[in-house]
Amino acid sequence: MSEITAYKCQACGYVMYPSHYRCLHCGNREFDEIAPSERGKLLTYTEIWNLPWGIDERSRVIGVVEFDNGVKAMGLLKTDAPKLGMKLAAGWEPVRVIGGEEVYGLVFAPVK
Ligand SMILES: [Zn+2]
Repeated sequence: MSEITAYKCQACGYVMYPSHYRCLHCGNREFDEIAPSERGKLLTYTEIWNLPWGIDERSRVIGVVEFDNGVKAMGLLKTDAPKLGMKLAAGWEPVRVIGGEEVYGLVFAPVK
């Protein structure tokens, strides 16, 4: 199951994730909701060592993934060996705890 929704501008076709009030390309305010395909490839990544409170790991790898339909999104990578272009499957999982509540975010795991 995927709860990821991206927004496609009805005027110019520009795809945004997450949503914005106006199209970042043409300023239009009418959008169609589309569901990104759940697989994509890794475009770029970075490892973060200074993590906020509420995260137990010593470091995390954050990546930008391009889905098969062209939507790009940033999320947590569940791998210790990220490689550019690697195939990933998207999920929606708790990524940290703030004030006792789980906060959900995009998570990407390598496709085996
Ligand atoms: Zn537009």
